Amino acid sequence: MSQPQQRKFTLPESELPTHFYNIAADLPEPAPPVLHPGTREPIGPADLAPLFPMELIKQEVSSERFIEIPEPVREAYRIYRPSPLIRALGLERALDTPAHIYYKYEGVSPAGSHKPNTAIAQAYYNKAEGINRLVTETGAGQWGSALAFAGSLFGLEIKVFMVRVSYEQKPYRRSFIQTFGGTVTPSPSTETNAGRTILAADPDSTGSLGIAISEAVEVAATNEDTKYSLGSVLNHVLLHQTVIGQEAIQQMALAGEEPDVVIGCAGGGSNFSGIAFPFLRDKLTGDSKTRFLAVEPASCPSLTKGEYRYDFGDAVGMTPLVKMHTLGNGFKPAPIHAGGLRYHGMAPMVSHLYELGFIEARAYAQNTCFEAALQFARTEGIIPAPESSHAIRAAIDEALEAKEAGSERVILFNLSGHGYFDMAAYDAYLAGELVDVEYEPQREAVAV
Ligand SMILES: *Cc1c(COP(=O)(O)O)cnc(C)c1O
Repeated sequence: MSQPQQRKFTLPESELPTHFYNIAADLPEPAPPVLHPGTREPIGPADLAPLFPMELIKQEVSSERFIEIPEPVREAYRIYRPSPLIRALGLERALDTPAHIYYKYEGVSPAGSHKPNTAIAQAYYNKAEGINRLVTETGAGQWGSALAFAGSLFGLEIKVFMVRVSYEQKPYRRSFIQTFGGTVTPSPSTETNAGRTILAADPDSTGSLGIAISEAVEVAATNEDTKYSLGSVLNHVLLHQTVIGQEAIQQMALAGEEPDVVIGCAGGGSNFSGIAFPFLRDKLTGDSKTRFLAVEPASCPSLTKGEYRYDFGDAVGMTPLVKMHTLGNGFKPAPIHAGGLRYHGMAPMVSHLYELGFIEARAYAQNTCFEAALQFARTEGIIPAPESSHAIRAAIDEALEAKEAGSERVILFNLSGHGYFDMAAYDAYLAGELVDVEYEPQREAVAV
């Protein structure tokens, strides 16, 4: 009798990574600097100090290859890490493909996504510098959930501006944040100048991540005791997510395989970077043939349709200027169900690597992603987050291409989260009510 196929590749807690991997150390040329919005000169640590604790500012510009993970952070990670790597045997069989498909499952975290990997680290570093209150924004509710959870572990108060469309669509994400002790305000709100300005121009605004960021940044900048926390895009966030890829390297070795392609969905770029950067290290420093594929929504295609230029991170123009692929900071993404992918820009580090030709990008409309999500759920038993379904769509297409070509292909994708708070989106899909929205450039500048 032949050996049964191993399905799960798990690591003991003792194999939890000890360091974050900083890709900046291995770049052939550095990413362009962050600029001050007023002077357009590169910013220094003092400019960021009102918003972030010094340790995170240091990490943002560090060129050290490995940064040690503090033990209290590792202890919190051990609630759910190392996360499993799973061979998608059921999906492979359904597709009748010679490809081997693996996924790293980040939905095992308490918040149901990869986001606690950075939320825990950020809460820890803030607390260590005497900060007791963090303010942030959330789109789909995943980031707010993650930060509220992390805040509860380290004794920080968490205030969340939640994009209004999600606030209304996802009442249980709101409850989740509140259960962990966080407070939630729908954005745009009347609590900030930024929110009042947007509401004056558009009283029915359903909000956007860019607007919610403006509100959160304003609260942090105008309150001495409060710092700001961002769940994606920034270098230090991508850095914290590299625990995903470092574990995956060990787990793929257990499976005796190396990926031909590594896939992640990309909103701000953090879960994609988390799985990709540790594998990319070999490509930057050696001759690995692995491909890297970032997958975004067709209605918000910052990498595939955006311009590579300096832009603001928020809607109102309060943040520093970063060079990134952007649809413009006034872009109002269609209210698709993958709320976590509705951001006008892409992480500067991902944008830089895309420009240098190290990664590829692809965009899909939402119906084809939900179709992939159902096929995945029915063969693998996990209902994916609508965001993650973009990565699944790409993994399935890669597997079908391999079948067509009659060649083997090892596919690894990041299943960034589960979709158990997103059942309204599945209802809409099953009822045939989901609309595919094409990207249209928006030329009007945001009203400030
Ligand atoms: C937030 C989120 C994303 C998108 O954010 P990235 O920074 O691009 O990773 C993707 N998947 C899930 C499940 C999320 O919660």
